[in-house]
Amino acid sequence: MDIVNARLRHHSDYFSINTANGYFTEISMQSGRVIPKEGQYDAQGNLLCAPFVEPHIHLDAALTAGEPEWNQSGTLFEGIERWRQRKPMLSADDIRRRALSTIELLVQNGVQAIRTHVDTTDPTLIGIRTLCELREELRDKIDLQIVAFPQDGLLSFPDGLTLQEQALQLGADVVGGIPHFEYTRDLGVESVKKLLELAQKYDCLVDVHCDEIDDPSSRFLEVLASEALFSGIGHRVTASHTTAMHSYDNAYCSKLFGLLKKSGINFVSCPTESIHLQGRFDTYPKRRGVTRVKELQEAGINVCLGQDSIFDPWYSLGNGKLLRTLDFAMHICQMMGYKDYTKALDLISDNSAKTLGLEGYGVAVGNPANFIILDGQDDYTVLRKQSDVLLSVRRGHIILEREAAKVISSPWIHETAD
Ligand SMILES: [Zn+2]
Repeated sequence: MDIVNARLRHHSDYFSINTANGYFTEISMQSGRVIPKEGQYDAQGNLLCAPFVEPHIHLDAALTAGEPEWNQSGTLFEGIERWRQRKPMLSADDIRRRALSTIELLVQNGVQAIRTHVDTTDPTLIGIRTLCELREELRDKIDLQIVAFPQDGLLSFPDGLTLQEQALQLGADVVGGIPHFEYTRDLGVESVKKLLELAQKYDCLVDVHCDEIDDPSSRFLEVLASEALFSGIGHRVTASHTTAMHSYDNAYCSKLFGLLKKSGINFVSCPTESIHLQGRFDTYPKRRGVTRVKELQEAGINVCLGQDSIFDPWYSLGNGKLLRTLDFAMHICQMMGYKDYTKALDLISDNSAKTLGLEGYGVAVGNPANFIILDGQDDYTVLRKQSDVLLSVRRGHIILEREAAKVISSPWIHETAD
């Protein structure tokens, strides 16, 4: 596949990109814009970059909002209650149909790798079984990582630990946890230690729903980071949400950041989900309840953004568009300086790929030819315009092609407008 007139991130020149047998074979700077030859794809000065990565979503729960009841309070805890009502209705067909529809939405918005949490506090483990099957079926089309996620607690739910281990034996890639939801602080601490033991036993990655609460005394992150540091597996460990960090005392946070940096763990923030679910017990002022994305990034700690939910008991909006999530994050975390804009896409691409441990990710000769082209020339424009994905290519094959949106007629269109 030959592409001309593409822009690459952090360059203003035009580039030609060639692929063969599913890999990037040549990336060369053009001396100016060229007229495409027969069979070449004309990127028309638009940005060609690595595909987006969704590092945190729940495919087993997606598209179930209002079934059988809506989450009226908007709290995380009512979300868990509503999900408990929905769980007995789960079947393989039901999960498969919704997961596929959700993956389709993500692919339409430039995603080619997904980490999904799947509830293991269900004695049938139907979610894990179904998603593991789907992962194999879609292996050539998308990278799917499955987190064994004990929604109702690893130690507080009857047989939670056994179910977690069974999920790993069935093929889950990542060990999950939810220490702040265990009955006691002690159980929370013990759950973190247990899940790290499981990760080492099964040679798995770790991704913990950690301190997803406004309680400033919820401090399981320090336990996760220190255990990861002592085990020497920090780069394989992710702390998701960490919304309590929003409410931590700054002096404590200053000490904590030293440990986080040393441990090498990764962070996922889900800003649309957190701004909606957190701060629900505040009157005014009302906390934003989103972790310190900007400060983590400035400290050189890997942080990325996920959607968490699409139309489920916790969050009833969402459309698969990570650029929307990024837009929210830039506002909520006050990352609206020019420098923030120029590297914005890191938060939904490179940083997320690092979190998932994806190999061969990125636009570089020798890597698998996985990329997208967006309707805009750089990070800033793409973020501001909330650009559509015009092309998505996987292993050199087009998996999505879209025409740029165009107004057909309006008295306001300037004749020379680009
Ligand atoms: Zn989640």
